[in-house]
Amino acid sequence: MDTGLSGKRALVCAASKGLGFACAMGLAQEGVAVTITARTASTLEEAAAAIRAATGVVVTTVAGDITTEAGRAQALAACPQPDILINNAGGPPPGDFRDWERDAWIAALDANMLTPIFLMKAVVDGMIGRGFGRIVNITSGSVKSPIATLGMSNGARAGLTGFSAGLARQVARHNVTINNLLPGPFLTDRLRSNARAAAEAAGQDVDTMLRERAKSSPAGRVGNPTEFGAACVFLCSAQAGFIVGQNLLLDGGAFNATMG
Ligand code: NAP
Repeated sequence: MDTGLSGKRALVCAASKGLGFACAMGLAQEGVAVTITARTASTLEEAAAAIRAATGVVVTTVAGDITTEAGRAQALAACPQPDILINNAGGPPPGDFRDWERDAWIAALDANMLTPIFLMKAVVDGMIGRGFGRIVNITSGSVKSPIATLGMSNGARAGLTGFSAGLARQVARHNVTINNLLPGPFLTDRLRSNARAAAEAAGQDVDTMLRERAKSSPAGRVGNPTEFGAACVFLCSAQAGFIVGQNLLLDGGAFNATMG
């Protein structure tokens, strides 16, 4: 399938590793010039080199914290008129809501709700003017099925989901779509480090814990980030212009429901 994306420009946030990287690589494989961001310059440059080597597209890097105003300004200066925006950032830490004061909540809202909203605000009118735009927010399965220890993630991402649902309907007639991708467990550094912490707490070995977790999924495994990247590419494709304001759960069937 020709996705019609060759020659487009994408800003992919938080993309030196994991799901963001997989989205950037997937888009680059379709001929999209990508601007990728992350806080750590060394791993960001390694990621850029890997994408260039695999695809030959132009890859621009912006080292900075996308959850800050300065970080967003740098990213937008490097890619002022993206055709595609992939919103992503690290998730809030787990814990007990009784321990979270206002500052912790504000940081979570900044990272997982307000940062994507401000980036959409910065780029959406340009997309409308050009008659093409694709925005994908990487959220979490926790938006549909809350994870008790991830209260800040459940809350902040649900806020983004609500806002995006409204905005998506305002821009769809201009061939600008906004959709959310909801990862279940994907084998990334984040999943490994979360599993390591849980394994230590349970006095278990991390590989055993990951195997047990995989077995409990209907798919019998955790997700491969390249599968996530492929779903992102499809939502960005020319063919996906009628998919508006959706929340696509990629969790191997773990969410048990007859329909979404
Ligand atoms: P990951 O493997 O840890 O990768 C995170 C990427 O984001 C890295 O490139 C990291 O680079 C960058 N990053 C983190 N915070 C950033 C910031 N403030 N500014 C710029 N870049 C930043 O994580 P992942 O598994 O891909 O997860 C991506 C998102 O999906 C997270 O919000 C996570 O909570 C959510 N999620 C993941 C899963 C899963 O199973 N993997 C499941 C549900 C939800 P630097 O550290 O160098 O900045």
